[in-house]
Amino acid sequence: MPMNLILLGPPGAGKGTQAKKLVKRYSIPQISTGDILRSAVKDQSPMGIKAKGFMDSGALVPDEVVVGIVDERLDKSDCVNGFVLDGFPRTVAQANALKAMLAAKGRTLDHVVSISVDKDELLERITGRRTCKACGKGYHVLFDPPRLADKCGECGGELFQRDDDREDTMVKRLDVYDEQTAPLIAYYESESLLRSLPGTGSIDDIFQRIVSIVEGK
Ligand code: AMP
Repeated sequence: MPMNLILLGPPGAGKGTQAKKLVKRYSIPQISTGDILRSAVKDQSPMGIKAKGFMDSGALVPDEVVVGIVDERLDKSDCVNGFVLDGFPRTVAQANALKAMLAAKGRTLDHVVSISVDKDELLERITGRRTCKACGKGYHVLFDPPRLADKCGECGGELFQRDDDREDTMVKRLDVYDEQTAPLIAYYESESLLRSLPGTGSIDDIFQRIVSIVEGK
């Protein structure tokens, strides 16, 4: 049975972490528009060059750019059994575009899982976030510190902080979330697709809540 999911929540809610666990359990791909855009920025592709300024300031990249990314990505063969959208949609216009593109592909959404976390905790989580340059593994300076300072415990790669995870940009990203993305909670509630859960507790506790939802337990 296909599993077509959206993870909704503010930056720092743990969408990426939970998406990776869903990938393993259900063999469906994680579609993270943020990851795809960061890779385009790194490659200095025309799309990356266009997106960089928006991303560095904590603003959203224009809807048509991300809608195009997702439309193409959903046609790849690894999406046959489903997908987990992480960081998309982020505006009502994107949600409408997603609805239209899924209808055109003869697909429907199964669940929109909304993860909520207090603002103070989000700031603490995000500003402590570090990522390995080489293998992409995530760390947190307080909650999941690497054994050797600034080095990845898996591959020895150098750890870095995302430019947009710094405190000033983070405050802006949370405002953008409140203004442009939070309305999607009501949007999906009215479509009877919304399932909300608290994003607090251990990573595994949160994952179990998500599994209960998507397996209908
Ligand atoms: P993320 O890793 O999901 O927090 O995304 C990082 C940045 O990429 C965001 O702050 C936006 O600038 C951009 N971005 C990612 N996904 C979207 C989206 N669905 N719509 C617009 N901008 C996005």
